[in-house]
Amino acid sequence: MKLIRMGPKGQERPGLWQPDGIVDLREHFAEIPDIDPSFFEQGWLERLAGLRVPGREFKIRWGAPIARPSKIICLGKNYVEHAKEGGFEAPTRPLIFCKTPNTLNGPFDPVLLPRSSGQVDWEVELAAVIGKGGKRIAEEEAMAHVAGFTVMNDVSGRQAQFADSQWFRGKSFDTFAPMGPALVTLDEIGDPHDLRLKAALNGRIMQDGHTRDLIFRLPTLIANISEDITLCPGDVISTGTPAGVGIFRHPPIVVQEGDEVECWVEKIGSIRNRFVSHIDDKV
Ligand code: ZN
Repeated sequence: MKLIRMGPKGQERPGLWQPDGIVDLREHFAEIPDIDPSFFEQGWLERLAGLRVPGREFKIRWGAPIARPSKIICLGKNYVEHAKEGGFEAPTRPLIFCKTPNTLNGPFDPVLLPRSSGQVDWEVELAAVIGKGGKRIAEEEAMAHVAGFTVMNDVSGRQAQFADSQWFRGKSFDTFAPMGPALVTLDEIGDPHDLRLKAALNGRIMQDGHTRDLIFRLPTLIANISEDITLCPGDVISTGTPAGVGIFRHPPIVVQEGDEVECWVEKIGSIRNRFVSHIDDKV
């Protein structure tokens, strides 16, 4: 299944993205919640698994495919070539940090350039969404806790990230986690460590990586994170970015107002976001 959230910002409703179009799930299940932690707690993944209904065309905004995650956990330097391009050693254990939920953004929504940081950069990433929470999850059990996967651009304000000596602010500006276009369930993905992923700036390919090159793979990440941090349904674990970010290029490339960044992961699809210095709150 490819689960989506559709509708105006803050009023999204759940849908399915099928080859023949979109299914508005509320037309079939009046009681279905938004795709948020309760969706997984109430067993909707399992309830929808066998659903066969026709899709149709919708001209509608797509939202981030997950609402109200308790946390968005990210991985730093989880591809060797990316660690190298920054002049870093590859980490010997997973390096985790968080983006705050105010970063959540739709797959085709604008990204707001912050006032307090320049050097805005892209990072295409494969992000896992947790379906079943837990603590001290064993590696062998880990994939049973994953609902599916989505594409995330871990947008980064490098000026703040480097000036602050830690990453909280530079990673957590409003709109800095565009996600989507869908939450693709694990059964459709197969092996999440066999996916190509790319990012393009105004149509020019900047990152072209492969998840087989992840230093720490999902079972290790889930076991490691959940050792002392409870994972909850709806939590996002974004697995890190391959080489090719803008800041470590010679000369560096930073996102400018009006630029469009597209991030693509095999078997999931593309998200495309324009970077702007003003967003009308009514949109
Ligand atoms: Zn990242």
